Amino acid sequence: MATTSGTQRAQLGNLDNRADLFGGPNLTVPPKHFMASPSHIPKLSEKVFHEQSSSTESSPINTPMHHPPSVTTDDFALAFDIDGVLMKGGQPIPEAVEAMKYINGENPYGVKVPYIFLTNGGGKTEKERCLDLSRQLELDVDPGQFICGHTPMREMAERYGTVLVVGGEGEKCRVVAEGYGFKDVITPGDIIKTRHDTTPFRTLTDEEHDNSRLLDLDNTRIEAIFVFADSRDWAGDQQIILDCLMTKDGWLNTRSQIFTEGPPVFFSHTDVVWSTSHDYSRLGMGALRASLEAVYSAITGKDLNTIAFGKPQIGTYQFATRLLKQWRKDSCDIDRSPSTVYFIGDTPESDIRGTNEFNDTTDNDWYSILVKTGVYQDGDKPRFPPRKTVDTVLDAVKFAFEREHKKTAKGEIVSELDYDTSEQVSN
Ligand SMILES: [Mg+2]
Repeated sequence: MATTSGTQRAQLGNLDNRADLFGGPNLTVPPKHFMASPSHIPKLSEKVFHEQSSSTESSPINTPMHHPPSVTTDDFALAFDIDGVLMKGGQPIPEAVEAMKYINGENPYGVKVPYIFLTNGGGKTEKERCLDLSRQLELDVDPGQFICGHTPMREMAERYGTVLVVGGEGEKCRVVAEGYGFKDVITPGDIIKTRHDTTPFRTLTDEEHDNSRLLDLDNTRIEAIFVFADSRDWAGDQQIILDCLMTKDGWLNTRSQIFTEGPPVFFSHTDVVWSTSHDYSRLGMGALRASLEAVYSAITGKDLNTIAFGKPQIGTYQFATRLLKQWRKDSCDIDRSPSTVYFIGDTPESDIRGTNEFNDTTDNDWYSILVKTGVYQDGDKPRFPPRKTVDTVLDAVKFAFEREHKKTAKGEIVSELDYDTSEQVSN
């Protein structure tokens, strides 16, 4: 990992076939200065579970204690999806706060576990989202342990000059993009303010009008389109994205005759639905992507190739691996890879699929756990079966601790005996 201008960079490869068209973008871990507070997890220079496993009596994971001291394991780690696992409809899921306390030492083994968050959500800066999460989960969450859907787009700032950024509330995604280093960020509001009949049925609010910027449409070239967060106005945003895609080489106020000259369009994830406070899952960014591709084809007769980040793209998990490595080093002075990373998610198509497919490519074990508090509901047959299904995130973390306990107690990996085979179906 090289360091440039105070920013750690990492290569993201193999996003998917579409992303490969662009050679696998370089990615950037949140800058060091975002990592405001080093960890609260005390340093432990020796690994806990395995080194002590030769003496079963002395191992904290093997000996449940009533008032245990807290030590940090370097042998396994946890990765959490957020919506549908820890949060729902802006409120913490009841077991989430207790689960966070459990992994921070309030467990029978007196062990703390390093962890990261990996969400497809977005629309705010990583720092702002971590402040929200810290308040909601009653613990300190650091940007150094947090990846959201658009975090990997950071590196694209060096590749493209003028970009159209779509989605999110108000000016927030423009602020995020500019924070990533994009030099000229245009929003749909700018285009509507400049030419109000762009979207016949959408009028900017006074606040949107004040914040939007007038453009010289004849001399503006969109080099790339980024959907950072969920659109608040599908019709208007799709109209503007389509207008850009049908230009000659991105020049606004032009129209291609062949419809293969437009700028690339990137989505921060592909989740078709997501879990909210509503009884049933709600449409997500993946639905907008599908709609856009269908409308583009209907109008132009050409296929639209979009590029996706987020889960389940393998590149996102590679990015997460690097973030976890950096986080364990910075916060716990751990300089080795965890033997197991338990990934806890609620969406089989992104969380479970991504974890399972990434696990096929890695030396260490990425272990998928599906909870029933979000998109996946009890009784559903997941298209992508997890290795374990539990009710809540608290059950998930307890399962991980117990599985590690069994490993050290037996002095060997429990292998696949504890898979939830009853849940498995063929893809
Ligand atoms: Mg989720």
